[in-house]
Amino acid sequence: MTELDELYQELIMDHNRNPRNFGKLQNPNREADGHNPFCGDTITLHLKLDESRVIEVGFQSAGCAISKASASMMTEAIKDKPENEINKIFDAFHKMLTNNSNDSLDSNDELGDLAVMSGVSQFPTRVKCATLSWHALRAALSDDKETVKTE
Ligand code: ZN
Repeated sequence: MTELDELYQELIMDHNRNPRNFGKLQNPNREADGHNPFCGDTITLHLKLDESRVIEVGFQSAGCAISKASASMMTEAIKDKPENEINKIFDAFHKMLTNNSNDSLDSNDELGDLAVMSGVSQFPTRVKCATLSWHALRAALSDDKETVKTE
């Protein structure tokens, strides 16, 4: 394991231990539930949207460290961002995790801390853990009431 990998792992463990924006929002106007049956991860995501901008976000989750850390990082990445920008981040994140090459690393600038999740792409079953919160986010933004599955 390289030093960089260790740094990344520390960041993931830190988000897992101290998840940011953890908890319910008082008056969310959007919410979605997600479930990853492969690992048993669940998430409930609350959003407060103003026009199409996320002004508040909160989540509750149960599951593995990767799913919780990824959700925590996601909430930091999307807060105060408009929906069109969030969609761009989602696309870049999804591409990073499903694309096994490292040649797109310089396009990860917009991902910030989320780039630490790139190592997960080597473990296809863990990709579902890392993307669960994002699928829940998409459902919340599109006001989809059904529980999202990572299928
Ligand atoms: Zn998991």
